[in-house]
Amino acid sequence: MSFPLPEVTPLSKPYWDGLQNGRLRFQRCSACGHAWLPARAECPECWKAQWQWTDASGRGRVVSWVVYHHAYHPEFKDRVPYNVTLVELDEGPRLITNVVKLGNRRLGIELPVRLCIENEHGIALARFELD
Ligand SMILES: [Zn+2]
Repeated sequence: MSFPLPEVTPLSKPYWDGLQNGRLRFQRCSACGHAWLPARAECPECWKAQWQWTDASGRGRVVSWVVYHHAYHPEFKDRVPYNVTLVELDEGPRLITNVVKLGNRRLGIELPVRLCIENEHGIALARFELD
């Protein structure tokens, strides 16, 4: 079994290209100003399809997390225990990610984090570290 890679679509390609170039990008609605991740065709607030890609500051905070002690995919067996964390960016969008370079026991709600792009299997991934 090979490493599970994200499915890059024409809609999400700017997100993945941004990470490859060292930037975390999200969509912001041109009509109502709402900002979101992951990529979607319409604003989840007002349903208008008028938006643009915007660079995030890379700063955010931990909203919630879980620690996996069992690998549900063989490619992850050497990583356990690892965290899967919900981070809210300063600009509002939330993404599911990992907080790295910090022990899982040190994770906490409202913990300030900053973007830490890691390349893995040829793809740049948005992870976070303690800010
Ligand atoms: Zn909107």
